[in-house]
Amino acid sequence: MRLILLGPPGAGKGTQAKMLKEKFQIPQISTGDILRAVDEDTELGVEVKKIMAAGQLVPDDMVVDAIKERIRQADCATGFILDGFPRNIAQAEKLSETLIDMSLAIDNVIDLELDPEEVVERLTGRSTCSNCGAMFHQVSRPPKVSGVCDGCESKLAQRSDDNIETIQKRLKVYEESTAPLKEFYKKQGNLITVEAKGSVEEIFSHVCKMIER
Ligand code: AMP
Repeated sequence: MRLILLGPPGAGKGTQAKMLKEKFQIPQISTGDILRAVDEDTELGVEVKKIMAAGQLVPDDMVVDAIKERIRQADCATGFILDGFPRNIAQAEKLSETLIDMSLAIDNVIDLELDPEEVVERLTGRSTCSNCGAMFHQVSRPPKVSGVCDGCESKLAQRSDDNIETIQKRLKVYEESTAPLKEFYKKQGNLITVEAKGSVEEIFSHVCKMIER
């Protein structure tokens, strides 16, 4: 099963990707996580951090090369979930070329739809476990103990780009560069649209129904 998760920041791509990973036992590949892990003490790390803090996209080559290498690894043999990639048409075209070279195809592109007003509310309230990556929200999914992960009891952290100014920039970049991918994949006939409202479990159940049609 090879899946792509589309949708604006805050639509729940990361959360749904983690649930799909458990259900289908395939890896979640998040370009955001890959970029956040780049060593900040290198020239590249400083540059990446600057771009992310500005809410812009890093150069295509950087993420395309990382994805090309990642999907060739052994754990991707039975499938993978792309979370946050592709982010523009050029990246989608490179992905298509790579998959054709590997004689593979994407099964479903899941577009999680969410209104821009809700994006701001969701992102300003979210926090992530610094150890296991579990996600929480101060209103819709509060941790049992404030600031502490329910699962592994590690500290929760807010992402540095989840501030109102950067969120507005990320939304603009989404509308201009990423939203056109809906039409791109619709034409390929594998786009699934799911309203990203309701509980995490409700959205997941909807996603699964659409995948298993
Ligand atoms: P995310 O964790 O998916 O919200 O991504 C956080 C940030 O990482 C984005 O705002 C971009 O700066 C960068 N990023 C993640 N994925 C990509 C991508 N496919 N292409 C370019 N930049 C990306």
